[in-house]
Amino acid sequence: MTQIKNIGLYTSGGDAPGMNAAIRAVVRTALYYDIAVTGIIRGYEGMIRGDFVPMHRKSVSNIVQRGGTILKTARSEQFKTAEGRKIAYENLKKNNIDALIAIGGDGTFTGAKIFGQEFDIPVLGLPGTIDNDLAGTDFTIGYDTAINTVVDAVDKIRDTAESHDRLFIVEVMGRDSGLIALRTGIAAGAEAILIPENKTGMAGLFDRLENGRKDKTSRIIIAAEGDDAGGAFEIGRIITEKFPHYDTRVSILGHIQRGGKPTCMDRVLASRVGVAAVEALRDGRSGEMVGVIHNEISYTPFDHAIKHSHEINAKFLKIVEILSL
Ligand code: ATP
Repeated sequence: MTQIKNIGLYTSGGDAPGMNAAIRAVVRTALYYDIAVTGIIRGYEGMIRGDFVPMHRKSVSNIVQRGGTILKTARSEQFKTAEGRKIAYENLKKNNIDALIAIGGDGTFTGAKIFGQEFDIPVLGLPGTIDNDLAGTDFTIGYDTAINTVVDAVDKIRDTAESHDRLFIVEVMGRDSGLIALRTGIAAGAEAILIPENKTGMAGLFDRLENGRKDKTSRIIIAAEGDDAGGAFEIGRIITEKFPHYDTRVSILGHIQRGGKPTCMDRVLASRVGVAAVEALRDGRSGEMVGVIHNEISYTPFDHAIKHSHEINAKFLKIVEILSL
């Protein structure tokens, strides 16, 4: 058993619903094991500025249901420099912080990995990003809430699409990964899904619009931000040009996908990995992300966690093709 006395806890990168549930789980579990927790405000930025607050049982009351992060989050260019990280480490030492738990995505874990190698401090990570683009966990904290938000929004857009006989291109988040588009496309009954991982999406869509059923009154196309065709407006322009008889509209969902109260699945995931991370620090683990694979807690080295495979489940695309007949 490693004697940890004070865990520094921070959220970093993009906020995600469920981060607060993870913060609560870490704080309460640490207190359960008689370990203090220091909240680091605005991630690596706060570490460099020495922006620290002691966390108590009450500090995390009434937050399990709230979106965003009470510890705030930021992006720090200074932490990417060796000098910045040295200042951060000195601040941690000054405040007697002897272990770290980072909640964030691949950038956050890249920073955590480098920091853990440079300085003698154990660091663990919790997967907090709506993108679900980390290896070593089936789902990331925030993904379930985000896809439910998208499906809810698309259902509403469908009302207008159906009433006006329109074709809607709905852009969802995902610059490098189509995982939000993939699932929401199935759940919302989309005509097609356009994602960065699939280079033949537009050709398939053209074929569908040209040769598919003609009696459909509404069509929804879900496009990930980083799709191959250059964004939703460009896709809208191309479709209007090629298929002028469709009344085509574009809707960009934007930041509503990042906010809102976390779903039950996200709260449970955040709570499980939060508890497991504190216990893992006590067991002497470091340099890993704590996730859940096949419903079991798993530990994945940061190096591997950030190397998310861009291979998507081709069956998902096939499902969309079959079900949108
Ligand atoms: P999201 O997936 O939601 O965007 P993220 O954790 O990937 O979350 P980033 O903005 O990529 O978000 O990274 C968060 C922070 O991690 C950066 O602002 C920076 O401070 C730190 N970081 C990223 N890459 C490095 C690096 N190579 N070296 C040191 N720190 C880094």
